[in-house]
Amino acid sequence: MVDKKEPDIDNLSFDMPPEVLDEIQKNIEEIITNFPVPESNKLDVIRKINFMYSHTKHLSVTDALTGLYNRRNLDVHLEREFLRAKRYKNDLSIAVIDIDFFKKVNDTYGHLCGDYVLKEVAYLIMETFRKTDLVFRYGGEEFVALLTETPIENALIPLERLRSRIENYPFKYNDTPIKITISIGVNSCNDNIENASQFLDMADKALYSAKQSGRNRVISAV
Ligand code: GH3
Ligand code: MG
Ligand code: MG
Repeated sequence: MVDKKEPDIDNLSFDMPPEVLDEIQKNIEEIITNFPVPESNKLDVIRKINFMYSHTKHLSVTDALTGLYNRRNLDVHLEREFLRAKRYKNDLSIAVIDIDFFKKVNDTYGHLCGDYVLKEVAYLIMETFRKTDLVFRYGGEEFVALLTETPIENALIPLERLRSRIENYPFKYNDTPIKITISIGVNSCNDNIENASQFLDMADKALYSAKQSGRNRVISAV
């Protein structure tokens, strides 16, 4: 039997590139024109389609758990900001942030607790940076921050504040206090860096050094 229930749009997962969505937006008017909708309802239909379009577009660039931008969106912004920094000789820094021993949190307290920690950490990261900075969930328990117009010395200040804030933050799940720390690798743009992926990769290597040298620290690639 066919299920005639309307789809629950909050729980659909989308994997549609933003360009495709833009194409859909362009065609909306044409669809409406050719669609057999009574003149009196046309405005309502346009409103509804526009709402669904914006909602779908939002879902396609954000991560459902944390509300941060997702990895695919990082690829777009990373390339764009890197090229902009190179061309106009602007300062640009990038930070890769990884929760220490996160697997142990899941194994000890369960995945729901892990999800709670991820959401809180995402919120604390978002609170740390300026509105002009961009924050992404890069992978499971990894985040990337793109700090525009920010030289390395200015990036280190909020990153160190974030590291210390998370170390001292009273995470609590079902009344159980949990200690969380993060490690951070940071890099800043300069003439020797050739492309966006090298720019990110250097920050990733600095993160690896932070892990190797004891975790709960910020290490700079430059
Ligand atoms: P390290 O200090 O070296 O970073 O150790 P780690 O345990 O954080 O690193 P590892 O990469 O071994 O483990 C990452 C874990 O993140 C594995 C998985 O259990 C957890 N994880 C990834 N995505 C999610 C998620 O969406 N929710 C939850 N609860 N856990 C996740
Ligand atoms: Mg980790
Ligand atoms: Mg990791």
